[in-house]
Amino acid sequence: MVDFALTDEQLQFQRLAHDFAEKEIRPVAALYDEKDEFPWDVVKKAAKMGLTSFYFPEKYGGGGVEDRITEFIVSEELAWGCAGIQTCILGTGLAAAGILAIGTEEQKDKWIPMFCDENNLKIGAMCLTEPNAGSDVQSLSTTAVPKDGGYLINGVKCFITNGGIADVHVVFATTDPAAGWGGLAAFIVPKGTAGMSMGKKEHKLGVRASHTAEVIFQDCWVPAENRLGGEGAIAALGALQMLEYTRPGVGAAALGIARAALEYAIDYAKTRVQFRKPIIAHQGIGFKLADMAIKVEAARLLIWKAGWMSNVKAPFNKGEGSMAKLYAGDIAVEVCIDAIQILGGYGYMKEYPVEKWLRDSKIYQIWEGTAEIQRLVISRKLGGKSF
Ligand SMILES: Cc1cc2nc3c(=O)[nH]c(=O)nc-3n(C[C@H](O)[C@H](O)[C@H](O)COP(=O)(O)OP(=O)(O)OC[C@H]3O[C@@H](n4cnc5c(N)ncnc54)[C@H](O)[C@@H]3O)c2cc1C
Repeated sequence: MVDFALTDEQLQFQRLAHDFAEKEIRPVAALYDEKDEFPWDVVKKAAKMGLTSFYFPEKYGGGGVEDRITEFIVSEELAWGCAGIQTCILGTGLAAAGILAIGTEEQKDKWIPMFCDENNLKIGAMCLTEPNAGSDVQSLSTTAVPKDGGYLINGVKCFITNGGIADVHVVFATTDPAAGWGGLAAFIVPKGTAGMSMGKKEHKLGVRASHTAEVIFQDCWVPAENRLGGEGAIAALGALQMLEYTRPGVGAAALGIARAALEYAIDYAKTRVQFRKPIIAHQGIGFKLADMAIKVEAARLLIWKAGWMSNVKAPFNKGEGSMAKLYAGDIAVEVCIDAIQILGGYGYMKEYPVEKWLRDSKIYQIWEGTAEIQRLVISRKLGGKSF
């Protein structure tokens, strides 16, 4: 049965997230974009309202909302407010997904509850990418060598969201460089661990409220109990599962940007008069808006379908998670470009929010697997491969 009517719980979260985005995020979105600074005040307010923890299981102190469509609705609404700030509010989910996918029960009990404390917010970072290992994850060169009942980690991670400011870093390293995927392991490195430091803070095109930095590991020792999954565990499958799992939520944020741009362009086109009529009445603009609206609706359908599949634990055999993320990322860029076109010269100016939305949208074709890598995943699945 297909049913697009939202449940009471979904509607309640949609209202909560939308109100928060409207009252707390939109008024400061341009400011944090300009300042290029993590919006701690906004994120702490979001935490108090349960928006950073609603999706964690109750047994860890989270809100216990298991429905992934609710998660995607919240992502869409918050990113409608500002995708950079949405990343700050929900970005910890990626590190948490790594712990939940790879960690033992004891590790989950130890590390997940801190992300659920609404009054003492803790954030996470997921450290996979390296200067010479982006899409090609298995060529990563950060090493973890057994020493004194633990591991000595050495290497550099780059472009890490919350990197160096997070309370918990989930760090992927190789225990055997010759083994490729087979040597991949993941470690918890808490804030303040000797040998871990923040490198260069990046200054970005978009999502500028989110913090992105290098994280450097120099003889950074962690106890063996911090190896996710325990001694000898291979993290490769968990890493892929983690990315598969989080992709539709990333798509939902791209969708939020696209919807913001579409709504703004419609309002503008209804009031801007040229040649004695509102520009929406010129077919060239009206048709453009129609195409933008179709793309937004289609992206939401892919995202919600992936959410429904996650809910019923159906595997993404056709790469449905990648499809949702890929399509939403692509259309977000297209819709923002069209929205600027509809605003004409005003769209190009910083007094109007659309140029920021275009800058923010571009990252969704790059992070958590580029658009090309999503197409690779989908085509491999169509060819019968599991990844
Ligand atoms: C703002 C920001 C935040 C990020 N946050 C995190 C984070 O929190 N944690 C983390 O680990 N990483 C993070 N990343 C890293 C991000 O996931 C990588 O940038 C991304 O995976 C691409 O890697 P790369 O930049 O090295 O590009 P490359 O892998 O070098 O790719 C360059 C180009 O080649 C293409 N390409 C590569 N291989 C193929 C192929 N086989 N077929 C076709 N085309 C190919 C790519 O699609 C791309 O267009 C972040 C990046 C940014 C910009």
